[in-house]
Amino acid sequence: MADVRTNAQPDAETVVEAPLPPTHIAVRREDYTPPDWLVPETRLDFDLDPDRTRVRATLAVERNGDHSRALRLDGDGLTPLSVRIDGEDARWRMEGPALILDIASDRATVETEVEIRPAANTKLMGLYASGGMLCTQCEAEGFRRITFFPDRPDVLSKYSVRMEGDRVRFPVLLSNGNPVASGEAANGRHWAEWEDPFPKPSYLFALVAGDLKPNRDSFTTMSGRQVDLAIWVRGSDLPKTAHAMASLKQAMAWDEKVYGREYDLDLFNIVAVSDFNMGAMENKGLNIFNSAYVLADQETATDGDFDNIARVVAHEYFHNWSGDRVTCRDWFQLSLKEGFTVFRDQSFSADIGSAPVKRIEDVRVLRAAQFPEDAGPLAHAVRPDSYIEIANFYTATVYNKGAELIRMFATVLGPEKFRAGTDLYFERHDGEAATCDDFVKALEDASGADLSAFKIWYSQAGTPRVKARIEHDPEAKTATLHLDQHIDPTPGQERKQPMPIPLKTALVGEASGHEICPERLIVLDQAEQQVAFDNVVEAPLLSINRDFSAPITVEANRKPHELERLAQTDTDPFARFEAIQELMMRSLVAGANGQDPDTESVIRAVAATLNSNSLDPAFKAEAILLPGESLIADRMTVVDPDAIHASRDALRRALGSDLRDSLLSAHRSDGAAGHDLSPAAKGVRRLRTVALGLLAAGNEREGASLAKAQFDRADNMTDRQGALGILVSLDAPERQAALDAFYQRFHDDPLVLDKWFALQAAAQRKDTVDAVRQLASHADFTMGNPNRLRALAGTFGVNHWAFHSADGRGYAFLAEMILAADKLNPQVAARLVPPLGRWRRYEAGRSELMRQTLERIVAARDLSKDVFEQVSKSLA
Ligand SMILES: [Zn+2]
Repeated sequence: MADVRTNAQPDAETVVEAPLPPTHIAVRREDYTPPDWLVPETRLDFDLDPDRTRVRATLAVERNGDHSRALRLDGDGLTPLSVRIDGEDARWRMEGPALILDIASDRATVETEVEIRPAANTKLMGLYASGGMLCTQCEAEGFRRITFFPDRPDVLSKYSVRMEGDRVRFPVLLSNGNPVASGEAANGRHWAEWEDPFPKPSYLFALVAGDLKPNRDSFTTMSGRQVDLAIWVRGSDLPKTAHAMASLKQAMAWDEKVYGREYDLDLFNIVAVSDFNMGAMENKGLNIFNSAYVLADQETATDGDFDNIARVVAHEYFHNWSGDRVTCRDWFQLSLKEGFTVFRDQSFSADIGSAPVKRIEDVRVLRAAQFPEDAGPLAHAVRPDSYIEIANFYTATVYNKGAELIRMFATVLGPEKFRAGTDLYFERHDGEAATCDDFVKALEDASGADLSAFKIWYSQAGTPRVKARIEHDPEAKTATLHLDQHIDPTPGQERKQPMPIPLKTALVGEASGHEICPERLIVLDQAEQQVAFDNVVEAPLLSINRDFSAPITVEANRKPHELERLAQTDTDPFARFEAIQELMMRSLVAGANGQDPDTESVIRAVAATLNSNSLDPAFKAEAILLPGESLIADRMTVVDPDAIHASRDALRRALGSDLRDSLLSAHRSDGAAGHDLSPAAKGVRRLRTVALGLLAAGNEREGASLAKAQFDRADNMTDRQGALGILVSLDAPERQAALDAFYQRFHDDPLVLDKWFALQAAAQRKDTVDAVRQLASHADFTMGNPNRLRALAGTFGVNHWAFHSADGRGYAFLAEMILAADKLNPQVAARLVPPLGRWRRYEAGRSELMRQTLERIVAARDLSKDVFEQVSKSLA
């Protein structure tokens, strides 16, 4: 676990940067202007060395339009060593971190030379060192930390890259596109040249140099071209790359079949990196991945890890069209590539696995990550209007709500017209930097539909709340659905307009349990609306927002017995899941508010689900899993974490003891060999652990012994991690024994060790805050590695009960983590802020402590603009 950056000092570059206040200026979407200068061609020459890397850039620049403005090249912590224009030493000046050149002619060749220090780059943006290799991360604004350049996504350039470095340390030299030449150099060095024939923005530039070994394969495209594939990792990790490679080939075939998109280069490279701010990056022809999304085998990775690898590999691959071939005009359009690509990867995962379960998982993520964003001080539109630091806008709103927006377009248009629209979009904007409006226009032009009303989903923040009430007239055999919508104000948007909300809706007969009015698509686009149903031959139950057709919350006045009935009969799996979850939620909220929780109806619904012969185990597991504590908090007027925890605990105990026999047989069901990754086998394993969790709630001693048995017997990480995840919350001797055994066995594997940290940070215990504090000084904890920091501090921040410990120690711990991490890596530090942000919703004592904690952070010296933006907006 030697991490070279464990004790690293703050990046020397931060010292020479302009003082902070001037850089805290917001960038606004309405201020967009086209680039003054274009750069059709870029040549980069790297003299690689972890301590001092020389970068020479040769840019062919071209005046864009009729103006006399200077050429402005963005930089971040760079000092020019030489600047030449058309071969002559040039006069230059700096404006803050940018290099300004006055150029008289309309075309010129600009050469610059800088020196950068990859080993001291703890921000992991630009060129940095990780585990002995050198690699890059340029989205959104990392390229300006490598060389001076108009670092904006609408400046597309053809790149040729030459790298030279030590042959032993860096035997493999990779960049975008195709390798064109290589050779030996003096002093044990060697070089390689790469050319990318496709013009691209600077954020898609990539370079990798290291001692890596490839898993090679190939893929034949639909037009019969052979593409060489390689996944590059440390030699010892090669056996763990099979699943990523299989996923890549599956994704390539899927994109041809579903979107008609073929890969365009002869080579596709993936590189796994241990230190990475994000999940992965879609650099043209050279995807760079967080190793967590590449490496897996049954011993060390859970079913969830395997699914995530398939999802992320597909996501980055799909970007080759939705992102690389058609990119974004400016960063406000980020959802153009991210929302669309998330929608594409969601559809892919649904196609290769269980579609209903995948939909439930996606909605869980949206509710856990995006709904709180929409309801808090950091709420922003899918296409934001302004930002201080763009890195803060890689959010669930831009990604996941953005994907829901695309899904709504697909729902309203239907599959054929949607496909015609995406075909037109790719054809019309190939090689361009486009906008969200361009995307909608292409859908409209190809389909003939008017989608203008839907564009409000790009600009209006907040989650719409829809109230629904069905009124039945048995005489006339009709029913009327009364709908209204409301959106709470969000920062900067006091008044909200009604939004078009596509609601897949059906009526189910209460007595017969049959669908008496088949599913139809209702678009609610007024503040209030009524919809009539005919031939309603029996008392109807309302099945609404089926398949979660719109990213909203529904408040339907359905009685518990109606929800119970829907939970057993609804033909839409998602609506069925919703019915049982709503039943649980009402009980949990009532319990937290000191009212009668009506546990009986929940117990009956869970029993019926568990004992059903028609439902598959994966669905059962999702349906009987109780809503999380922060989700319950979203339903409370004043949040009291102790009351929520007590209410949830009580319901889990009641389920565990009343349904012991059913849970035990679900826990013991087999048919899932460790190596079997079929959806059916994954479902059996998932239900095994979910059932075990409830059993342990009902009887701690029996639960601990069953969990330890599952832990000891496990031949795969899913069962092992599942069992340990239950044990960590118990007060049983098995707990420490299992934690120690896990550590002993896996402490040499960083990705598994992350799980060990995360599981303890997620423990539902009073002393979790003490545990995380101790873990922060554990020899294996390192703040410089984003995965490790997220495993401990990120996981703890969303452990609702432990984090919101009434004495404020949880807040103090997170603040310490944020401030310490900010010195090294502001981007990752800023992502830890949101759990503190919703202080206004908590009971007075905690609310005040949270506010004070935010005040203390914002008062810190030399705070990055990343953290400054998140904290100051949270306080505003
Ligand atoms: Zn993406």
